[in-house]
Amino acid sequence: MKHSIHYFALFSIWLFATASSGQTRLINDKDIADETNSEDWLAYGRTHNEQRYSPLTQINQKSVAKMGVDWHLDLPGDVGLVSTPLVIDGVMYFTGSMNIVRAVDALTGTVLWQHDPKVAEEVVGHKRAGWVHNRGLSAYGNKIFAATWDGRLQALDRNSGKLLWSTRTFGLEEPLYITGAPKAFKGKVLIGNGGTEAGPTRGYVSAYDTETGELAWRFYIVPGNPEDGFEDETMEMAAETWSGNWWEHGGGGNAWHAFTYDEELDQLYIGTGNGSPWNQKLRSPDGGDNLFLCSVVALDPDTGEYLWHYQTVPGETWDYNSNMDIVLADLTLEGRDVKALMHAPKNGFFYVLDRLTGALLSAEKFADTNWATHIDLATGRPVERQGARYEDGSENIFPSPFGAHSWHAMSYNPKTGLVYLPTIHLSADFIDESYNTQWRSVAFEGGTAVDWSQGADPRDYSGELQAWDPVTQQKRWSVPQSDPWASGTLTTAGGLVFQGEANGHFSAYDASSGETVWTFDAGLGISAPPITYAIDGKQYVSVLVGYGGGYASGLTPGSERLGWAYGVHTRRLLTFSLDGKNSVPQQPAPHYPEPLIEADFAVNNNLAEKGAGLFIQHACYACHGLGAISGGMAPDLRASAMFFSEMTQPLRGIVREGKRLDRGMPGYPDMSDAELVALRHYIRREAHAQTDINWE
Ligand code: CA
Repeated sequence: MKHSIHYFALFSIWLFATASSGQTRLINDKDIADETNSEDWLAYGRTHNEQRYSPLTQINQKSVAKMGVDWHLDLPGDVGLVSTPLVIDGVMYFTGSMNIVRAVDALTGTVLWQHDPKVAEEVVGHKRAGWVHNRGLSAYGNKIFAATWDGRLQALDRNSGKLLWSTRTFGLEEPLYITGAPKAFKGKVLIGNGGTEAGPTRGYVSAYDTETGELAWRFYIVPGNPEDGFEDETMEMAAETWSGNWWEHGGGGNAWHAFTYDEELDQLYIGTGNGSPWNQKLRSPDGGDNLFLCSVVALDPDTGEYLWHYQTVPGETWDYNSNMDIVLADLTLEGRDVKALMHAPKNGFFYVLDRLTGALLSAEKFADTNWATHIDLATGRPVERQGARYEDGSENIFPSPFGAHSWHAMSYNPKTGLVYLPTIHLSADFIDESYNTQWRSVAFEGGTAVDWSQGADPRDYSGELQAWDPVTQQKRWSVPQSDPWASGTLTTAGGLVFQGEANGHFSAYDASSGETVWTFDAGLGISAPPITYAIDGKQYVSVLVGYGGGYASGLTPGSERLGWAYGVHTRRLLTFSLDGKNSVPQQPAPHYPEPLIEADFAVNNNLAEKGAGLFIQHACYACHGLGAISGGMAPDLRASAMFFSEMTQPLRGIVREGKRLDRGMPGYPDMSDAELVALRHYIRREAHAQTDINWE
């Protein structure tokens, strides 16, 4: 008997070992760099080059007309979806609201596992800045890496979703957040953070060991207080480009997006953020370039040591960060083969750099841009227009702080030689008259030290999909779009470009001509970029549907006109194929919240003004919308009974104690009763004033 038990135990161990080693392919850098693997989508931009180009051709210009929904997965608890899914060996991985990671069978949409990092439990009792969405995941070895709003980086077992390690990348008391996808390379995983506008922050990126979660290295983007000593010679060099007591403002530069690993040259590139505060007159009063704000910085992937940088906006003062995707390609420029790096940051110029050296090769405007006339190729510097730094009073500047291009990834198709670039045409009026050198940013109240509002729009469209030729630096074709904030793009060897729009249309375009060859109405705005993959010789296209991100929240007027009101439409993952015949439940019609009237409520205008100030000070508008007009990412407070007089107790619970933290509403423990009353007067004033609003 003893023998048989022994053999049975051995047999079980053998079975277990076979099952685990046989199913988990260990992903390495060669795999992630392999452009010819058409079945998987192994990294944020598909491969290390971040081109979002797939060699798949089954769905092409001719066949795409037959494309229909193959399967769908409803995500009723989710809000804004901005994530790029990964596909590995027939399993799809993606991030939803509150950083929940799901693995689904990519053939059927069946959920295989789900990991909830329990963000609400982590942050209860702490203030929070920023956003509850996240743009994606990273895969390496047998692991999936995910980051959380509150600053944790986590490693999950790819097969089971089991948490293998979790590490804090910043303290819970810091006014920082993470919305970016981690980037894994060479046994390390990199993450940055956002928060430039949320307090006096000093940006940095950190690399952790993929196996242990131990910190491998950290690179600071701006120098700290010289009295504390600089971390290294690079920070000493950067400090020479700053003036005044910049460290009291943090400096900013936060890297919330854009990490590219160059497997060929073994270099890491990070896109860096704008200054904290925006207004350089206060941040660095005697000017200076303020390194490494608004730059592409090349780092040694093993040590994090500085290699080179190219700064797109020296002495930045308009929120023109360079946190937009960094795409690598081999280009032929004037007969010369170039290892190129392509970058289209907020500032409206399309840059081509030689990534061996960081030398600027060309830069041209791809959108309405008036802060600079051109980029001087001899010096590599922009030539600014007089008055652009709002030194002469109010100034209308293109692009707006939303940028001419934001985090919506561009794709590059080596067959057409074109970049497919989601473009935004908005301007802003800047004025800084009400700020002086006494101004200080307060953690979780933040500020920019300059006032801005959306400027007049000279076009009848504010969004555009452009096919951009990076060699000639010219537009080849264009699809004007009435609204800005369309999704990132996907391009394929099938001669197609895919993109979702804020109006809910998901379209395929002929990659050479821009002709619309297929459209599906998802019934809800799309902000997440589509991907494609194949299983058993069949090609699929997937996209997450759920209007999301900064513009969607109502930071500026516009989004509310789309009618994607909070809690009305079902967020979902849609997957298409050529023989897809799945019917998707119809979405409700666009909905416009109706402001509620509290009978007999007399608005005290002084209190309402105080409430309006609190609404700005605590950044309530960042989710609930400027003027309390929600863009759909959070409830429209004018239409909420929560601000009725009789709801004092429940309102305290939500605002002060964080009772809706599970929905992403942070708690404000020091908000007084008097302040809550002032907020009520503000919300009632806005609700009563706008009851006759008509979006038609
Ligand atoms: Ca910013």
